[in-house]
Amino acid sequence: MTTINDDMASLQTAATAAIADFADVTVRGYLKEHPDLVVHRLDLLASMIERVRIAVIRDRAASPCPPHPCVAAEHAEMVAEYTEHTCDCDFCLCGS
Ligand SMILES: [Zn+2]
Repeated sequence: MTTINDDMASLQTAATAAIADFADVTVRGYLKEHPDLVVHRLDLLASMIERVRIAVIRDRAASPCPPHPCVAAEHAEMVAEYTEHTCDCDFCLCGS
């Protein structure tokens, strides 16, 4: 049985690798990794997204709230915060 920490580590790894896959396809025009490995992480991420999306639908139905005033601006703020941080991590996109 996996713990939530195991799941989060797996999803973090899949998300980071999928971002690299995206960059490979966008910049190089082809995948660098084996397609079976790429599709495995896409399946992991798709399962996570489906589960969270179900929670969004459930929570909206249970407790309707007014629309968020500016999701794009709040996300851009989070992106800026991430981009501006520095660390020595080999795994983080802002790492060494
Ligand atoms: Zn970092």
